Amino acid sequence: MSKTACLICHCGTNIRNVVDVEKLKNEVKRRYGDVLVYDNEHWCSEDGLKKMGEIINRDKASRIVIAACTPSLHEELFKKNAEKYGLNRGFVEIANIREQASWVHWHNPGKATLKALDHILMALEAVKEAKPTNIIRRPTERSVLIIGGGVAGINAALNLADAGIKVFLVEKSGFLGGHMAKWDKVFPTLDCSICILGPLLSQVYNHPNIKIYTLSEVVDFSGMPGDYVVKIRKRARYIDEATCNGCNKCLDVCPVELPNEYEYGINIRKAIVKPEPQTVPIAPYIDIENCIGCMNCIGVCDPKAVNFKDTDREITLSVGAVIVATGFKPYNPREIEEYGYGRFLDVITGAEYDRMLNCNGPTKGRVVKLSGNGEVEKIAFILCVGSRSERLGRPYCSKVCCMYTIKYALETKITNPKIDITVFYTDIRASGKMHEEAYKRALEAGVKFIRGRVSSVEKDKSGRLRLTYEDTLEGKVEKELFDLVVLSIGVDPDPDNKKLANMLGLQLDEYGFFTEYHPKLKPSDTFRGGIYLAGACSGPKDITESTLQAGLAASRAAQFLHSGEVEV
Ligand code: SF4
Ligand code: SF4
Repeated sequence: MSKTACLICHCGTNIRNVVDVEKLKNEVKRRYGDVLVYDNEHWCSEDGLKKMGEIINRDKASRIVIAACTPSLHEELFKKNAEKYGLNRGFVEIANIREQASWVHWHNPGKATLKALDHILMALEAVKEAKPTNIIRRPTERSVLIIGGGVAGINAALNLADAGIKVFLVEKSGFLGGHMAKWDKVFPTLDCSICILGPLLSQVYNHPNIKIYTLSEVVDFSGMPGDYVVKIRKRARYIDEATCNGCNKCLDVCPVELPNEYEYGINIRKAIVKPEPQTVPIAPYIDIENCIGCMNCIGVCDPKAVNFKDTDREITLSVGAVIVATGFKPYNPREIEEYGYGRFLDVITGAEYDRMLNCNGPTKGRVVKLSGNGEVEKIAFILCVGSRSERLGRPYCSKVCCMYTIKYALETKITNPKIDITVFYTDIRASGKMHEEAYKRALEAGVKFIRGRVSSVEKDKSGRLRLTYEDTLEGKVEKELFDLVVLSIGVDPDPDNKKLANMLGLQLDEYGFFTEYHPKLKPSDTFRGGIYLAGACSGPKDITESTLQAGLAASRAAQFLHSGEVEV
């Protein structure tokens, strides 16, 4: 005769401390006299899984309800374990009495217990009607689509390509490298950013297993895990990458001048675009919307790389897995009116200051006042701008603004030791490897750290900037003049995340970052088979963390494709 077993988990104290497990057991026995009822500290432990096997083999249970944590955590483990002991996975049901009962109703144990009972009763009814699950195996495409060519995307691409897996790397902009290609130095070591990134970009660009699509976006997505079909729209470059030798003569002769978005509008760019000398690819592209058709570029291009007959194209690819590595967007502080960004030229963001420090940036590495009003003698950095703020709907920490500010302060002190620097902070979070040491180096170099929020930035009669702030350690409100104010801005999700999540069938969190399958145990998996996350697309991360997650995403994708078939 078919027997049903109900396995109630204590989850240590997670469930037991709120939900009355004895009451659940008694209620199930009272309502379903023929159901075998057991409880255990941890059904997911080795001991618990073995006991589950005994319940199947010795006690002849042929249908099982496990009342425990969310199915997204251990459903697969329990189903695989049932199969190991000869029970079809279709006869295992999960009742989530942790996330749905004890965790959310911890303040009301009576109601939590009643809700847990409801979940168990529903699962018992469901398992009664359950049918065996037949597993079908389908072959997989041994290739991976990577969306985003920043530090996470290129690291994931190299890991996979070196393992012999074909990679299609799709990048929205004209060049690889993302934000990291723009940064002057990286914390905490003050390594030159492009010196460590550049060789990787070159490896990716020349790797026989990597096909790169710049100026490209995913516009359609269908199929199933292991066999996805992706449509990419590639905008015309109008410069043949294979022919261009990177001489940049065309940039010199292009007469069009536009605000340079890459430099946050601090200088101008041409209609033929190449933001840095060492871009990958080395070929520029033509911004056809703003090109006036003068043909000067054709005239100076010796290898004849300019091609106005180039057209936008749609490309369809079949891939087995996908890695989303779309990164982040720097927060725009214009909405914080009291800081005067957009009103005062000498209030700039950390990203803009970074470009100022960069020898290829708009000021060629010189720290200047964009107002032109005198030299920079005193700089104020304001931390947590757009981070840790309920008011702005961004309660999360950017994880990077403390450390990149320390980097800027150190870099500035090395090249301009006379510049007086004050950092206004909420807390200094320097928990990564060698981060605390960098903070100490900044203190030793004479950088002042004041704990307190700045309440306003105003222009003084002399044209300097007056900050009003509360020093929360001294308990005093102070006013002080500075020449330059740098806002250490936080991290926003990419604005295209919503569109991409809808297309790929992924979930976003309340702020718009991609949601991981499990933040601790499966931080690069998603809820869709064969689709993984790398880098800041799932929340703020520094370069080290992005690289680590890229390695994990690549290894998860490789593991997924390894057997050549997928179970559906
Ligand atoms: S398109 Fe021609 S002129 Fe411009 S960088 Fe390439 S080779 Fe030089
Ligand atoms: S044809 Fe267009 S891109 Fe070329 S030089 Fe003239 S304006 Fe610039």
